[in-house]
Amino acid sequence: MVVKSINKELCFGCKLCVDVCTEDVLRFDEARNKPYVKYPKDCVSCLFCEAFCPIGAIEVSLKRGRKLPEVM
Ligand code: SF4
Ligand code: SF4
Repeated sequence: MVVKSINKELCFGCKLCVDVCTEDVLRFDEARNKPYVKYPKDCVSCLFCEAFCPIGAIEVSLKRGRKLPEVM
């Protein structure tokens, strides 16, 4: 898993991390008002979720789950 952690104490459920993930890795648990990692192998460690989280609740490892597509 390359999303190392989501701090449930800090997270206030803004959903920004879910919205900015271009790889559809994250889902949002409405009942708990928290995001979770649904498809860890699809994470490309782009750091968008970590960068956009306003409270620093999500931490990403740089070890990629899969390679980024090559740009021609
Ligand atoms: S690091 Fe990028 S690909 Fe991985 S969960 Fe966060 S936004 Fe999605
Ligand atoms: S961006 Fe941060 S505060 Fe917002 S839902 Fe995601 S982990 Fe929680």
